[in-house]
Amino acid sequence: MRKNNCKECKEPLTGRIDKKFCSDSCRCSFFNKLNVKERNEFRRINRILKQNRKILKRLVDSGRAKASLEELEIMGFAFGFATEVVVANEGQVKYFCYDIGLKTEADSLHFALVHKEQMPQS
Ligand SMILES: [Zn+2]
Repeated sequence: MRKNNCKECKEPLTGRIDKKFCSDSCRCSFFNKLNVKERNEFRRINRILKQNRKILKRLVDSGRAKASLEELEIMGFAFGFATEVVVANEGQVKYFCYDIGLKTEADSLHFALVHKEQMPQS
């Protein structure tokens, strides 16, 4: 006897041993919920990245070349989120949020604001 239940409605399954859902509608609703979860997670991360980029843009627009760790934290910069991480010369790291990034300074309390080099148009 099989002991598997539908992954959606939890009803006992009959028929093929590798069956995971009792019906097409259960299969659809299971994967729809999964997609919603995924979409929400994408949205959450995209929001954080856009917010980070906005903070960097604000600094660049006000003519700044550097920013301190403390100041970035106060502005709400989320350090764990970047679109690209580039290890440059002498172990310097650049953390990009789209086209604008932060480059670590030797004292590790400050960052230089950097722009991404333009990629050649194809
Ligand atoms: Zn079901």
